[in-house]
Amino acid sequence: MDLLWDDKPKEECGLFGIFAPEKEIARLTYYGLYALQHRGQESAGIAVSDGRKIVVEKGMGLVSEVFSPDLLAGLQGKMAIGHVRYSTTGSSLLSNAQPLVVHFQNGMMALAHNGNLTNAVEIRQELGSQGTVFQTTIDSEVILNMIARYRRHSLEDAIIKTMIDIKGAYALLIMAEDKIVGARDPHGLRPLCIGRLGERYCFASESCALDTIGAEFVRDVKPGEVVTIDEAGLHTRFGTPQERIAPCSFEYIYFARPDSTLDNLNVWESRRQMGVQLAKECPIEADVIIPVPDSGTPAALGYAQTLGIPFEEGLLKNRYVGRTFIQPTQELREVAVRIKLNANKQVIRGRRVVMIDDSIVRGTTSSKLVEMVKGCGAKEVHLLISSPPVKYSCYYGIDTAEREKLIANQMNIDEIRKFVGADTLYYLSEEGLKKALGSDPVCLACFNGDYPTTVPKKFSKEDMEC
Ligand code: SF4
Repeated sequence: MDLLWDDKPKEECGLFGIFAPEKEIARLTYYGLYALQHRGQESAGIAVSDGRKIVVEKGMGLVSEVFSPDLLAGLQGKMAIGHVRYSTTGSSLLSNAQPLVVHFQNGMMALAHNGNLTNAVEIRQELGSQGTVFQTTIDSEVILNMIARYRRHSLEDAIIKTMIDIKGAYALLIMAEDKIVGARDPHGLRPLCIGRLGERYCFASESCALDTIGAEFVRDVKPGEVVTIDEAGLHTRFGTPQERIAPCSFEYIYFARPDSTLDNLNVWESRRQMGVQLAKECPIEADVIIPVPDSGTPAALGYAQTLGIPFEEGLLKNRYVGRTFIQPTQELREVAVRIKLNANKQVIRGRRVVMIDDSIVRGTTSSKLVEMVKGCGAKEVHLLISSPPVKYSCYYGIDTAEREKLIANQMNIDEIRKFVGADTLYYLSEEGLKKALGSDPVCLACFNGDYPTTVPKKFSKEDMEC
């Protein structure tokens, strides 16, 4: 098991799409996906359309590993959609990489999806009983199949009809020969925004991808909205009535890049505000505040600024540990954490330390970090978490681990404190998190079990993947 990264929830996909016949659309999509690499590192793909046919290239690995300059040069067209994907173990297959492309009666279509459907298994069984053959194990193919079935209508009508049938979380990019359509589920669970590059438009999961290609942020796609970009510009319709609006709060806590703004809320600032709230709820007399990099950094800064305590880098992250990192043997398990994060003795020795992290999922990393900081001579180590305890699984495209593996589902806070070995363990309250995120509603289901949709009784990630 990966001792460090396995102790965090995993995002399951990033999307980018652009309609710009006069530009190098494959290269722009490549850069857009590069900016979204944190949303999925297992496979990457780009599909282009020249107005007549769709060509796709995809492979396992990082964007930079999948696409060579020659491969990109071969992807010529008027528009492109791209996808980066993370998957659970066992289904990290090339056949599951996206965009998915199909030929059907009226032509060709490509689809890129972020999220999880909660009724994919039922729909899949129904389609299967009618003779539909599936080539992948992902729920995205269910969506593509349904749109293709409805394609006697316009593409937008077919998407809207599909949106009425499917439940759960989705941000979609669907490319036909002459247009790209972006759609977001009626709860707005997964993010999707619109950018403008000159007179042309593009889509991205996060605004950081728009910044990267020099596009101007236009706005977020609204929950339930269906937005088309084509030769004539941008057109919009509503697919399904908006339902309980609930964008994922974990995007702000951990997943999204801090330089992104999602649904009008900047990620860096919302994380800093989580630290401000932590300082109000749990002020500790300490000599230094250190973050667990990188996602703990803005909260640690907000905490330090509010209490007037020095903020320093007490843990240093090795940025060059890639996917191919060979896990040490059992005997060398401690090395795994120290290769990725190492404590800065100069900052820690003889001091009362507050260490701030964004979340604890299984607790395996936190105990190692506390031990490491104590081993460097800290007088006290207080661990503060800038989100509430994660007690429930996510059904909406985030791999939080099964409920039984969530430490906060198995132990109370004092038991977790003893397990991680900290002098104090404090989690931000749900109220504090809501204050940090402003007045708009968000999904908090992995903290409180209040899911914005009905969720399946039995859930297997292998059944319903991104
Ligand atoms: S359950 Fe948690 S991780 Fe899943 S969408 Fe809701 S807030 Fe995000």
